[in-house]
Amino acid sequence: MSAPESDDARPVAGTLPWQERNPISVAHRTTYTTRAAWTCEVESAWSRFAKFQLLNRLSWTQLGEALAILPAINTGEGIDLRAADAFRLTDLADTLHIGLHDIEHSFCTANRGDSLLDAASPSLRFCLTCASTGFHATLFQFTAFRRCPIHGCELCEACTSCGQPLAYRLGAGLVRHPYACPSCGRSLLAAASLRHLLANAGTETTGLDRLRAWHDYFFRYLQLLGPGRRRIRDEAGQYLPGDEIQACSDIPRRLAFIGELERHLRSPPELPSVDPVPGASARSGGGSRPAVRQPSRCAWAADWPHVDHTCVTLCAIYRKIRKNRVRRLARSIRPVQPEDGSVRHSPEFGLLLCDGNTSARSIALLGWRLTWERRFSIQTLTRCQGNYPPFGLLEWLAFMPAHLPPSVAPQEWLHRHFVHALGQTWNAWCAISSGMQENGCYVLSPLLFPARLLWLDFPDMHVPEVADPRTRVALHRETANDT
Ligand SMILES: [Zn+2]
Ligand SMILES: [Zn+2]
Repeated sequence: MSAPESDDARPVAGTLPWQERNPISVAHRTTYTTRAAWTCEVESAWSRFAKFQLLNRLSWTQLGEALAILPAINTGEGIDLRAADAFRLTDLADTLHIGLHDIEHSFCTANRGDSLLDAASPSLRFCLTCASTGFHATLFQFTAFRRCPIHGCELCEACTSCGQPLAYRLGAGLVRHPYACPSCGRSLLAAASLRHLLANAGTETTGLDRLRAWHDYFFRYLQLLGPGRRRIRDEAGQYLPGDEIQACSDIPRRLAFIGELERHLRSPPELPSVDPVPGASARSGGGSRPAVRQPSRCAWAADWPHVDHTCVTLCAIYRKIRKNRVRRLARSIRPVQPEDGSVRHSPEFGLLLCDGNTSARSIALLGWRLTWERRFSIQTLTRCQGNYPPFGLLEWLAFMPAHLPPSVAPQEWLHRHFVHALGQTWNAWCAISSGMQENGCYVLSPLLFPARLLWLDFPDMHVPEVADPRTRVALHRETANDT
C-alpha cells in the first residue's frame, strides 16, 4: 500500500478555524497531516487517533499502516485502545509527530495482560466540554474518576444523542465517524469552537495543569500498587469472559479512592520521596544486593522474614515514639482523633475528611498513625491475602525482602531502619497535610502514604548510593534477572 500524499488528503469540514491558523506540518517520510501542537501529553490515544483520521480520512487498511498496528494483531473487531501493545510505539510516535513518552501516556496500560486494564472502561468516558474542543484525556477512561478535573462536570458514558456507549476501540466506527458516535454519527466536536486546548490562556491552562497533576499522581500511585497480571481464570481454572474478568477484579475498587480524593482536593496530595537510612548499603551486606527493586517484585505474600517476636519489639518502639510525639504536640495543640466531631468518615472509600481549620501538624499525627496502625492484626495475614496488602508495621516488614538485614547484628539493623522509617513517614505526613491545608480541606487515608513506600524506589526519588543514572539502569537489569 502506498501512503497518501498530504495533497491527496481530502479536506475535512473545510472552514474549521484551526485549519487556517496552524500551518500543516508534513512528515518527512510518509506525508500524513498531523498537528503535533494541537495535542497535549495527557491526551488519550482515542482522541489523537480520531483527530488524525479527521485530518487524513484514510481507509481502514491505510489507517492501520499509518498507526503502526502490529501485523500479528487480530483487527476483526477493532483494537482495544486501553492497551498499547497492539502498536509499534516508535513508529506511531513518528507518524503523529509526538514523543514516545507522550504516546505511552496515551494508553491506560502497556499490556493487555496487566490487571490495570480492569481499572479502565472499555467504552469511551468523556467530558462534553473537553470533547467539544477536541480533547479527551487518558485519565477519563479510569472508572475511579467520575468527573473531569478541568471542568468539574460528570463524565458521560454514552452518546447524548442515541444513548449508545461508544466503544473505546480503533475500528470501522472510528474510520467512518472520527470524533463521533459510531452508531449515529453525531460528532462530539463543536465545529465552531474547535481549537487547540493549549493555545487558550487562563482557566483552561490552569485546568489542564490540574488534570496533568492528577494524571501524574494516578500513574505514580500505580507503581506503588504494582497491580500485577490480570486474573483471567476463575477459581476452577476456567477462562472467564472479558466483562466477567473486569467484574471480579479488585483493582478498580482499590483505586476508587483516588477519584474520591479528586472530588475533595483541587490538586493531588504529595507523594513525598524518602531518604534511605544513612549508610544503609554499607550495613546491609555491601553493594552486591541492589538497593532498587521493581514494585511488582516486592512480593508481600511470599516472604515475610520477621513476622515473629520482632513485630512485638518493633511495635513497642513505635508505641514509645508515638507517646512522645503525642505528648510534644499536645503541649501546643490538641491532637485530632478519628472520633472527633470535626472528622467525617467516608467508609466506602476508606477516607477521613476534616475541614481546613484544623492544625496541619495535628492532621500529620493522625495520618502518621494511619500509616502505622491500620490493620495491624494477624487477620491481615490470614484472611485478606490476595485482596489487600498488609498495612502498617506488617506491611513495612513484608516489603523488606529486597533489603534483608545482615546476618551480623540483625536486630540492631532492624531497629535503626525502623526508627528511620518512623521519622521519614512523619516528615512525609507533615508535607502532605500542609499541602492539603492550602487546598482548604484534609482527606486522610493510610493509602496516601503506605509503609511499603519506605522500601520502594521510584525513578525520580533520591538514591544517593547510586547517583549515576547508567548505574541505576544496570541495577534495574540485575534486579530483573534476579528471579
Ligand atoms: Zn472537561
Ligand atoms: Zn449516538
